[in-house]
Amino acid sequence: MPKHQIKETARIYALQNAILFDGIANAKSVIGKVIGVLQKKGFNPRDIIPIVNSVVNEVNKIPLEKQISELEKTAPELLKKEKKERDFSLPKLPNAEMGKVVTRFPPEPNGYLHIGHAKAAIIDYEYAKKYDGKFILRFDDTNPENAHLEFYESQKKDLKWLGIEWDKEYCTSNNLEKHYKLANQLIESRNAYICNCSPKIIKDGRFHGKECSCRNSTPEKNITLWNDLLSSSNKDMVLRLKGNMTSKNTAMRDPTLFRIIDKPHPLQGDKYWVWPTYDFAGAVEDSISGVTHPFRTKEYELRDECYFYILDLLKLRKPYLLEFARLSIDGMPVSKRKIKPLIEGGFVSGYDDIRLPTLRGLNKRGILPEAIKQFVLTQGISKVESTATFGLVESANRKILDPISKRYFFVINPVKLIVENAPKLKKSIRLHPVDDKIGMRTIKTDKTFYVSGEDIKILSIGDLFRLKDLYNVEIKEKNDVVLAKYKGDELIPDSAKIQWTSDNYIEMDVFIPKTLYKDGKYNPDSLEKAQGFAEEAVASIKNGEIVQFERFGFVKIENIKNHIVGFFAHK
Ligand code: ATP
Ligand code: MG
Repeated sequence: MPKHQIKETARIYALQNAILFDGIANAKSVIGKVIGVLQKKGFNPRDIIPIVNSVVNEVNKIPLEKQISELEKTAPELLKKEKKERDFSLPKLPNAEMGKVVTRFPPEPNGYLHIGHAKAAIIDYEYAKKYDGKFILRFDDTNPENAHLEFYESQKKDLKWLGIEWDKEYCTSNNLEKHYKLANQLIESRNAYICNCSPKIIKDGRFHGKECSCRNSTPEKNITLWNDLLSSSNKDMVLRLKGNMTSKNTAMRDPTLFRIIDKPHPLQGDKYWVWPTYDFAGAVEDSISGVTHPFRTKEYELRDECYFYILDLLKLRKPYLLEFARLSIDGMPVSKRKIKPLIEGGFVSGYDDIRLPTLRGLNKRGILPEAIKQFVLTQGISKVESTATFGLVESANRKILDPISKRYFFVINPVKLIVENAPKLKKSIRLHPVDDKIGMRTIKTDKTFYVSGEDIKILSIGDLFRLKDLYNVEIKEKNDVVLAKYKGDELIPDSAKIQWTSDNYIEMDVFIPKTLYKDGKYNPDSLEKAQGFAEEAVASIKNGEIVQFERFGFVKIENIKNHIVGFFAHK
């Protein structure tokens, strides 16, 4: 009995199973697979089992990346299959223990969430779920100039829409007293100092790696100045970390930890004017709130040193900091900083403009939360900066919508069509090409129809076509009105099938989002409007339903007080 053959087969199935389950194969499942394959070839299960057991043991000792690269060499076809099944699951989290993982999503309540935030929030949330841990929603509201009350609520609403639930919610601005105490510790231990140099001098000093005279004042003097700062906003001073002014990492050149922003805060009112920077608040909050695996976008990588340095100095627990690439999408502004001026300048209609990658905008045009989630999870947690195309979101969305959405006829640039000898019909037409359960709609037809001018353009007198799901007609005359003749019911192979409406149509507009940025510039033609007639049944589609207008695309219907408008999701 050639043992090596059992070993080889066991090895590839053990690898396949391990890759599917985060690097640990299950001997029983592998035994089942291997027996299934080898029994047919005359092998005895009794010979197979001990070999598989020992192979599984070996394979489980190899790190996941090595398992993948080995299978890639030995049986890539198995990897492909498993990759597909794994598609939406995140890779193993380093240093993670079941039941003990804590993640957080820390938005600044200064705008509506966009698909980039969705990436962060979904990854944080999915990891907490995967490890049966906890997920915290933390509002990083430490800049009173930017924070607005409306955004705390709208961000929560949008996260809920994404299907995200949190175990705990809090605001960093509620912890300022704690932050002040910790700052005090840093000052007393000579690790932070009050600097009253001008912003320009501070910047130049950082650039040239030069210390300023404030750096060497005594802790006593610093404590006095710090208390002055806390008692009156009338000071031009900041608290800086005593880092290393000659460090190669400029983030370590005495970064600012606290600065004055004397503006009313949406939750704290006028209570505070000394606010922590992200360097300080981010590190401290991750640590004291028990977060074990905080994710940040890669642009913060240089600041990691500072993050750990502060926690070291304060003797606070250090989380396992992780990074992923910031999400960028071709032609779309995936950043609040870029979205805001578009709204303020009137270039888009608001936060829910269908051209924007805000969750509100995506929802309005019929992108489903599940599609966003699948898109985010297939992007994964790679650090490699790349620009995704929105087509990936569309394709995930299409896959979800295709089997469930109702089909209707919508005719753009409608042209009247009169059919001679047209039978008067009351025709029931399927709402979905294959799923019977989705039902039917009934259309009454006489001799008057509307078809798309685009379709008619390419047909000539004498051409035969089929009014989709109805009957065949032959074109007799083509003027402003097209005249045709009824040509029977039987399906004629290869004849064009054309969508239509009866005389009872609904006039409606469908708004179509196009690329917002072309060659880095705002595209003034980024919103198109398709005007047309929809079949009568469209009037009964409920507000917010996404349907497919056949040969046109998926459209979300807005039906408010019988005024019907469509928003185009994608083809
Ligand atoms: P913006 O430029 O849109 O204002 P931000 O990083 O300032 O982005 P925050 O509200 O501070 O926005 O971010 C909350 C979380 O969302 C952070 O963890 C941040 O890293 C993450 N995040 C924001 N934008 C993206 C993006 N485009 N891709 C991935 N993660 C993002
Ligand atoms: Mg920010």
